[in-house]
Amino acid sequence: MYIVSTPAYQNAFVQYLRKGTPIEVSIKASQESKDSPYYVWETVGDDKVREPHAARDGQVFSWESSPRPGEELGCRCSAIPIPKDRPIALEESKLRVGIYFPDGSSLMRINGSRAWRNNNPGNIRSGSFANNHGAIGKAGGFAVFPDETTGGQASIALLKTSTYANLTIDQAIDRRSPSSENDTSHLQETIRRMGGFTGQETIGLLDDIQISRLAEAIKRTEGWIPGSITRTEPPQ
Ligand SMILES: [Zn+2]
Repeated sequence: MYIVSTPAYQNAFVQYLRKGTPIEVSIKASQESKDSPYYVWETVGDDKVREPHAARDGQVFSWESSPRPGEELGCRCSAIPIPKDRPIALEESKLRVGIYFPDGSSLMRINGSRAWRNNNPGNIRSGSFANNHGAIGKAGGFAVFPDETTGGQASIALLKTSTYANLTIDQAIDRRSPSSENDTSHLQETIRRMGGFTGQETIGLLDDIQISRLAEAIKRTEGWIPGSITRTEPPQ
């Protein structure tokens, strides 16, 4: 005998009615799946996307709902599965980052600065370092973290890597923000002032409080400008 949650049974029953899939087959598949019962509808974002699909862009749907992306004739939309065990982040447009949770709820971080939208106070690039420190996606080439705490811990962890340990604070700022693209001396001056540093301190010798102060100064110079957050409940 199967002991199953009601939604799993209901979904399996719908599959049986629609396609004749045996109920135990559907239930086994849903139990083994790495994905939650939800996906994010993504359009290609150009002006040829049909109106009803454009309205669905960035929204969460159940796999059981119809139509699915790509089902209708000529539809180029895609379904991004939400994993069962962690949220994912997707860049929905230039100034909107969506965070999608396994329970089907989501939140949209709109406007504000890039660092704020991405929960990434150190503006860490997307990649393996970020992923190993809890990033759940990328937007604008930078990592997106599930919350500011995780992003802040990643920023501190980066300062503790061998890349920075042997550098002075001034050298580290030059490494992060080379003068070819930045007003590095102004940044160095600002960070010294904000953190109460001379700039000559070796990063690997800083204590935890000093490292936090340095990370906080970096956060402020990267630009932490809050925008707005809209929350959406799981689909019915
Ligand atoms: Zn479409």
